[in-house]
Amino acid sequence: MGKDSKIDWTHHTFNPWWGCAKVSAGCANCYAEVWAARVGMKCWGVNGQRRFFGDSHWHQPMLWNRRAAHLKERQKVFCSSMADVFEARKDLDPWREKLWGLIAATPWLDWLLVTKRHSHVLEMAPWKTEWPSNVWLGMTAEDQECAARRLPLLLKIPAKVRFISCEPLVGPLDVRPWVGSGGVDWIIVGGESGARARRMQSEWVEQIQSQCQKANTAFFFKQWGVFGADGLRRSKKKNGNLFQDRLWQEFPIVQESHIASCHRI
Ligand code: SF4
Repeated sequence: MGKDSKIDWTHHTFNPWWGCAKVSAGCANCYAEVWAARVGMKCWGVNGQRRFFGDSHWHQPMLWNRRAAHLKERQKVFCSSMADVFEARKDLDPWREKLWGLIAATPWLDWLLVTKRHSHVLEMAPWKTEWPSNVWLGMTAEDQECAARRLPLLLKIPAKVRFISCEPLVGPLDVRPWVGSGGVDWIIVGGESGARARRMQSEWVEQIQSQCQKANTAFFFKQWGVFGADGLRRSKKKNGNLFQDRLWQEFPIVQESHIASCHRI
């Protein structure tokens, strides 16, 4: 959806299309699939259609870029909340091309590309050894097994910012091999929502937060989901986004040539 985002870790959310197919444990209760079904779109699964958008949708980031340039303030765009940019399907190729062109045309926007399809990135992205300065590349690591499978590939890619999205976090995760000089600049953690949500245990969050802190790597705690720190089920809103009674909304500090630790609030 090309509109301003309510997610506090990004200014905007943009989807080059809607629709996806499940690939790992984090996908089991995919909120995007539920949301698409709720608004009557059947665009999930390997054989499902994808939903594409017209010019006005694609023009939105140009407006965000113009505004960011006017304010002289870079803005982040989360891409994609309703799809995976690196899903391998022929019908997505022209839209992917269009996205690469859009990224090039919007230098005031930092594009946060998050994927679970780690093995497709090098082949599908148009950049090889030189990645543009406005692309932040993230891979989902919902548990240790996914981290071990995906993160070695993340570290091979010379994106200006490399980050891990642990959302929904469904198991304990030791991030020490990847934070600090390991090459990951930012970790985002969040719990799951929905009727079949799995509980994220506070010890898992504590471990990641403390490992990030020791390595001076930015840590962002998004939300608990429907299970709070006490393990009780209540609304996602009631559980909120405090961890150990405070907000954790750190971002990597991006300088011209490298990441300078993190911005702590
Ligand atoms: S990769 Fe993301 S969008 Fe696709 S099914 Fe999994 S959770 Fe949903």
